[in-house]
Amino acid sequence: MTHTQGGVRGDSGPAIAQLVAGRVLDVPDFPSPGVVFKDLMPLFADGEVFRQVIDAIVEHHGRDSFDVVAGIEARGFVIAAALAYATGVGVVPVRKAGKLPRAAYTASYELEYGKAALEVHQDAFTAGHRVLVVDDVLATGGTANATMDLVERAGGTIAGFSVLLELGFLGGRERLAPRPLHALLTV
Ligand code: AMP
Repeated sequence: MTHTQGGVRGDSGPAIAQLVAGRVLDVPDFPSPGVVFKDLMPLFADGEVFRQVIDAIVEHHGRDSFDVVAGIEARGFVIAAALAYATGVGVVPVRKAGKLPRAAYTASYELEYGKAALEVHQDAFTAGHRVLVVDDVLATGGTANATMDLVERAGGTIAGFSVLLELGFLGGRERLAPRPLHALLTV
């Protein structure tokens, strides 16, 4: 369900959507011409807003609905670590290729230009553990889909997927379906 108020909408209601909207900076032409980079550093730097955002993600999924949190490199790590601490579970980093020291599963996926790959340790998850996956921004959904495939290959089950900000016009939500998306702000 997506709520709307004054043009600001998100899956946890307009108040949280407004909080996120007030702490994101649009950076034109970064990292390449034509891209508007959504910089969420001001949100991470605001302790009160960051806490409310983390609480909203926990409330959406339910404190007992996941056994571990997986964060996507690099800004997803910040969100995942806070969620893990808030709920008393552990955190698993999903890393860019070549960074993990031990045997890993790899998922390659298409970017707008070229390819990228993500990795997770083969022993990262206890079989059947419910994994909450988080990142800062959902764009086309390629990164999220690759991550959720990796989690399942490594023996986890997907408990949910949350982002702070969804770029709705890129169709990522549709690409993830039937996996549900929880986005605090949709633009
Ligand atoms: P995608 O695979 O297209 O959904 O891209 C999502 C990943 O790229 C996430 O890890 C985001 O952090 C990053 N990303 C993509 N587009 C943007 C953007 N416009 N602003 C900030 N981060 C972005």
